[in-house]
Amino acid sequence: MSNPDDFLKNLPPLRDVIAAYELRAKKALGQNFLLDLNITDKIARQAGDLSGKSVFEIGPGPGGLTRSLIGSNAAKIIAVEFDPRAVAALQPLTNNKGGERVEIVHGDALRVNLLDLAEGPRAIVANLPYNIATPLLTSWLKQMRERPGAFDSMTLMFQKEVAERITAVPGSKDYGRLSIISQWICDCRVCFDLPPSAFSPPPKVSSSVVHFTPKRLDKDAPDFRSVERVTAAAFGQRRKMIRGSLKDYADVIAALGLDPTLRAENLSVQDFINLAKGR
Ligand code: SAM
Repeated sequence: MSNPDDFLKNLPPLRDVIAAYELRAKKALGQNFLLDLNITDKIARQAGDLSGKSVFEIGPGPGGLTRSLIGSNAAKIIAVEFDPRAVAALQPLTNNKGGERVEIVHGDALRVNLLDLAEGPRAIVANLPYNIATPLLTSWLKQMRERPGAFDSMTLMFQKEVAERITAVPGSKDYGRLSIISQWICDCRVCFDLPPSAFSPPPKVSSSVVHFTPKRLDKDAPDFRSVERVTAAAFGQRRKMIRGSLKDYADVIAALGLDPTLRAENLSVQDFINLAKGR
């Protein structure tokens, strides 16, 4: 295989790709592109050692982050993109020597099961479309719960507010369902923030890259739905004491010795897991 660095050096600038394929950003598709390859390289580096791994990129757009992943030591790069204009713009990444590790899948990431697309160790690295970032994350966390080893890591760009919810601690205003489900399944770390000006066009909000590494779950860990159910009930009425919001769990609350006058935001991630398990 030829050196991926030579291959990458000969690609046209991303702005030229956008012009040639008329890839004007569509708001409905959450299109805010990263055109600075120093930034996309920095995201790819946060994923750590990708050797031997199949790396999924969701929403490659004009392909800046895809180029950085080609420059990494990933065994394979599988990029899932919904917009046919971007799919066309990405073809040169697969046609040339050095790009032979790259596969572009035209599809809706909400409907594609990544586990069907590659065996072996897998990672996800993506600047996600923000309008569907939370359902995508939830579906991958669910797969991690149901199939241990599904993904070795996820390195994902979110709007900053979502990253804050993912990593929030009990007692904080951002602590909620997403914090509990994310921190139950993974160690979650904010790697760095990016201002709106880093993107073209700039979104209204700042963004953050979060790195997720799966935790080893207990053998008797509850199923995903049970944890979703108890967190939905508790945070659906987050101002209420748990004796009100979690009436159906009264016996479990008592058995666990939890104070029924606490509110959802005062319970730890482990408390929620214990509640789900006890049901
Ligand atoms: N990765 C590129 C970058 O950093 O410049 C583009 C990121 S942009 C925030 C989100 C991308 O996700 C767009 O290319 C958009 O077309 C794509 N997208 C939106 N909805 C999608 C879906 N349901 N499935 C797959 N890709 C989608």
